[in-house]
Amino acid sequence: MSAPDVSPEDVALVHEVLQSDSLSMGPMVERFEAEWAARLGIPHAVAVSSGTAGLHLALISVGVSAGDCVVTSPFSFVASANAALYEGALPVFVDIDPASFALDPDGVATALADLEAGGRAAARWLPRHRPDGWVGRPAKAVMPVHVFGQPAAMAPIAASADRHGAMVIEDACEAIGSEYEGQPAGAFGAAGVFGFYPNKQMTTGEGGVIVTVEEARARLLRSLRNQGRDDSATWLRHVRLGYNYRLDEMSAALGLGQLRRLDALLAQRARVAAAYDQRLAGLEAVTPPGRVATTTKIGWFVYVVRLAAGTDRAAVVGALAADGVPSRPYFPPIHLQPYYRERFGYREGDFPITEAIARTTLALPFHGQMTDDEVDFVVSALERALSTSADATSPVASGER
Ligand SMILES: *Cc1c(COP(=O)(O)O)cnc(C)c1O
Repeated sequence: MSAPDVSPEDVALVHEVLQSDSLSMGPMVERFEAEWAARLGIPHAVAVSSGTAGLHLALISVGVSAGDCVVTSPFSFVASANAALYEGALPVFVDIDPASFALDPDGVATALADLEAGGRAAARWLPRHRPDGWVGRPAKAVMPVHVFGQPAAMAPIAASADRHGAMVIEDACEAIGSEYEGQPAGAFGAAGVFGFYPNKQMTTGEGGVIVTVEEARARLLRSLRNQGRDDSATWLRHVRLGYNYRLDEMSAALGLGQLRRLDALLAQRARVAAAYDQRLAGLEAVTPPGRVATTTKIGWFVYVVRLAAGTDRAAVVGALAADGVPSRPYFPPIHLQPYYRERFGYREGDFPITEAIARTTLALPFHGQMTDDEVDFVVSALERALSTSADATSPVASGER
């Protein structure tokens, strides 16, 4: 499905670390943070051990704690909602905009107003199973997720968050290199979080980074990732509940190498996405990824198409696999994950737009080193898979996208 792009220069940087005496808390993390902050044009970057760890700390840093509500998207990788659960907070799901696949800003505005109003208005946003204390609390935070590299509607979301006293944390883990109205994704909220798992636009192996404009928040985040130590440099002095969410030096070195090549990595991915777009243009039953007007740049993370309604997606996945082409239904909605169904009582139908999109999306193999021939091979296999599965299903619903 994906492949990291590691160059000899990246390897040399990791080697440099291995031949030094600091494998953790050394100069590479500092260099990586400084260059990341400069790239985003934001004063502070705090490197952490994963994107998930970054989301967790970002929520703590805006004061999210037990019993709070965090408004977020059900159409995401599970980590975004889980981060709220780590603090005993409740992820309050709002359905997505079918064009961007990200949080619908009008839904966010209504949810924030209703949560503030409390009582019955608030209750309609909450899951069936919940501790009593959760009714009537205004949202502490809103966490838009820039799914597949397409930034959420940050201007209206930030405006409603402001109106209702909620802090904005951006899950920008899939949006490395993306821009919303000319500004980098991740730079709008109180904090923005990026992830560097090997399938992302660039990698550190495991790793992530949190960006923020506020110095006090950056200092708090550095303490939280480092066992709650303060700035006094006294090793065994812990002033708050902290975590070991540090990024090690080898990972930071790889990240530094990748960051220095990021424009080239992004350009390669854009080339492959364009090849897919072009090759898929004639295919009736497949809608290539769209781009909303506010998205001035997409940092391509995955290449996710929509299959025409009525297509037997499982049959398509099976036929592709038989041709040696991996593909993945992406994302299964968070609220329908077994853990969320059991704990919160969610059911099918709770977030209809998310579910409708999730039923028809399919991620195709995608990384920056794919050749035009490989793209062609995948699309040819997809054409065959669609024609076999179309024979088996009724043509009635195929007009709907
Ligand atoms: C990748 C990703 C994360 C972070 O994942 P890690 O594996 O913890 O780095 C968080 N949210 C979304 C939407 C992601 O795609």
